Order: sequence, then C-alpha cells, then structure tokens
Amino acid sequence: MVLGAGIVGVSVALQLRRRGLDVILVDRQAPGEGTSFGNGGLIQREAVYPHPFPRALSELSRIARNRSIDAVYHTGALPALVSPLLQYWRNSSPERYARAVQSHAQLITTCLDEHLALAREADALALLRPIGYMRLFGNAAKLEAAIADAEVGRREFGVNFATLDTAALAAAEPSLLVEKAGAIHWTDPLSVSDPHGLTVAYAKLFTKLGGVIATGDASTLARCPGGWLVLTADGTMQAASAVVALGAASPVVTRLLGYAPPMFGKRGYHMHYGLRGNAVLNRPVLDGDSGFLLAPMRHGVRLTTGAEFARPDAAQTPVQLERAEPVARTLLPLAERVDGMPWMGVRPCTPDMVPIIGRAPGQDGLWFCFGHAHQGLTLGPSSGRLIAEMMAGDTPFVDPTPYRPERFAKAAARAS
Ligand SMILES: Cc1cc2nc3c(=O)[nH]c(=O)nc-3n(C[C@H](O)[C@H](O)[C@H](O)COP(=O)(O)OP(=O)(O)OC[C@H]3O[C@@H](n4cnc5c(N)ncnc54)[C@H](O)[C@@H]3O)c2cc1C
Repeated sequence: MVLGAGIVGVSVALQLRRRGLDVILVDRQAPGEGTSFGNGGLIQREAVYPHPFPRALSELSRIARNRSIDAVYHTGALPALVSPLLQYWRNSSPERYARAVQSHAQLITTCLDEHLALAREADALALLRPIGYMRLFGNAAKLEAAIADAEVGRREFGVNFATLDTAALAAAEPSLLVEKAGAIHWTDPLSVSDPHGLTVAYAKLFTKLGGVIATGDASTLARCPGGWLVLTADGTMQAASAVVALGAASPVVTRLLGYAPPMFGKRGYHMHYGLRGNAVLNRPVLDGDSGFLLAPMRHGVRLTTGAEFARPDAAQTPVQLERAEPVARTLLPLAERVDGMPWMGVRPCTPDMVPIIGRAPGQDGLWFCFGHAHQGLTLGPSSGRLIAEMMAGDTPFVDPTPYRPERFAKAAARAS
C-alpha cells in the first residue's frame, strides 16, 4: 500500500508493481494534484548540489529584510521553524554540505535514465523535451563565478553545460527584451511540458499493469493483524506493507506513529502567461539575478517562484509572484495572466537536504519515501526504484545509507 499519489508515490507504486508486487495506491485526491501538479517541470540532472542554507552575512541580511523575490517568510512561522532551520544552517557548513552533495548526487545522476524508462513504457516520451534550461546572469563577474562552479560539477559529477555570451544568448532566445551578460545552458536536464500530465501518465501505466488506485485519508493508517490498514471510499484496505509518500504532509501521518522528523516546507507559486505577437521562449530560463523560472509549458509560459516559509495552514500570500511578474515582463513580452488565481505547492524539505527513504524505525512493514524538497519531480522514479528494490529484497542500485529514516529518530523520540 502506497500512501500519496504525487510523482514520488506514483513512482514508488509503479516501481513496486513492475517488480511483480500487488500494490494499492491511496490518495485523497486524484494522482498528481499536490505539489507535483505545478512545479517547474525540470528533471534536473545538473542539480547535484542541493540548496544550502545561506551562510554569508550579506545574503542572510538580504533575506532577513524579507523584500526579495527568491525567499520570503511569515514572521508568525518563525518560532516553529527555528529548530529545523538551525539544523539546516548547521548542515550547510562546508564539511557537512559536502556529504549532502555526495548523497544527493548519487540519486540525481540516475534521474534521466529512470524517467526515460518509465516515460517510454507509459507512452509519455513526448512530454520530456531534451532542451535543458538556461540560467541567465546580468552581471559578468557572477557569470564567471558560476561558470567556475559549473566546471567543478562537470569534473566531479559529469554535469554538462555550455556558456553563452550576450550575443549567443540573444541568438538562442531572440524574444528576450534585455541584454544580459550571458547564460549557462545546462544541457542535460529534460523539460517536462506538463508535470501533472507526466504523473497522470505514470499512474495510468500503474493501473494498466494491474495496480489499484483508491481514494482515502492516509491519517487513518493503523496497524492490523499481518500489516497495515487504511480507510478508503471503497472500504478498509489492508496490506502487508505500507509506504508513506505524502510529500510535505508526510510528518502529519508519521507523527501519529511516533516519528516526527524536523521537516519544513518551502512553498512556491506558479502563474501562466501568453506571449505577445510572434514571441517565443525556446527553453526554460531561470533569472539568476532575481530567482524565478520562466518555462514554456502546455498551458503557457509558467512562472514559478522561489521559497516561502509559512505555517502549513497559512493562507496563500503570493507576494513573490507579485514581485517577480514585473521583472519577468522586462525579460519577455508576456501577455495577460492565463490562470484565474496563482497555484501553490509545498517543497517537502529535510534539514540535511537529503530525502528520507527506507524502513520506518521500530515499525514492521512500514516504509518512508519523502522529503525530496526542490527535486521531487527529478527524483521520483529513482527514489521509487530504490525503495522498491529494498522492499523486494533486491540489491539496491545505490547505497541507501544516507537516506535512512533513523537519522531523525532521536528528534522523533524527543518530539513524541
Ligand atoms: C514552485 C515549485 C517549483 C518546483 N520545480 C521543480 C522542478 O523543476 N523540478 C523538480 O524536480 N522539482 C521541483 N519542485 C519540487 C517538486 O514539485 C516536489 O519535490 C514534488 O512534487 C514532491 O512530490 P511528492 O510526491 O513527494 O509530493 P506531492 O506531489 O505533494 O504529493 C503528495 C500527495 O499526498 C497526498 N496527501 C497528503 N495528505 C494526505 C492524506 N492525509 N491522505 C491522503 N493523501 C494525502 C496529496 O493529495 C498529494 O497527492 C518544485 C516545487 C515547487 C513548489
């Protein structure tokens, strides 16, 4: 039984079913309607370096002013965030961060192959565009520094990129309205034209292979003789094993079972726009100066925003979108908004920047697969493969040690 039908849960269910297990996938909504619905659509082979907590004073004070586009916070959310963010800050020290990079990178390096294998089987290859994406820089010194970092990524992790100067960028994206110093074109990533559509396609493959999808509330998860049960619209469902893959909502359910990892959400918004006249956007562009993405998608040009720290139950406050939109309009000839209101999702983050994948501590037959933060779309099929191999008793294709849930078990014990 897999709880949660986002890109992670659907991938877990599919990878288990492909290995011949009987699987039921439970969500309170249809597949792909949580955060997996509206992300930036990048399958980020280049993202071997997870997002660290900023440590430079200038950067911290910029964010503390709470007026930036890339990161904002609700002051009311801060008390509950102090502890996880302090851990996040500590884990972003050069030494610990280097460990996080290794753990993150070993899953990331498999993301393209794992997606392509599923998409081929799901007849969804047309959704995956091999166009990479570009990070734009207005400042030549920052571009030079980013190129130096990219060279390290190429050397250490085989990440591929091309650099573009002002003229090459203008030629590659002729509708750009401003002259930038240049860009880094990450050439490996796949750009998904409809991330929701991709999750739905994987879910359809799952049912085609004999998997079952049910509507139910994961917080009804309870032990029963021989395994676990959950209440669904079709009655009580039972299984020998259960996997919690509920994204940002995972701790709500695991806490009931005594496991309270110090997770936090980074909310993000999107809005779609048309393009005026004959304007085009050939590939996603990330504005490196302001920190938002513009991606050509099935429903228009999707603008996605950076991180908002808020209480889980707080109402939407799309201030980053309001700040980003005027800047985006100086970059591209955007037409009117397409959507009636902004969409919002929550990136499920752990303080050590590594997802939680493996056996639940002290709970027979319970497994976890969540905490994929900024890269859940990228990592869904890889994480799904890893946990499916562990559950099926096969040799895991990567060392699962860095993801083990036990690393937060002390925090869980303190909190319960
Ligand atoms: C603005 C933005 C841009 C992003 N861009 C990218 C990108 O370009 N590339 C990338 O790799 N990642 C990106 N991400 C991150 C990525 O979207 C997430 O990491 C990923 O969607 C998490 O997937 P998930 O399956 O873990 O969670 P979700 O998609 O949120 O799925 C969780 C599921 O659990 C269900 N659920 C919750 N509670 C219950 C309950 N009690 N009972 C039953 N069901 C329940 C929900 O209905 C939902 O379907 C972005 C995120 C945001 C917000």
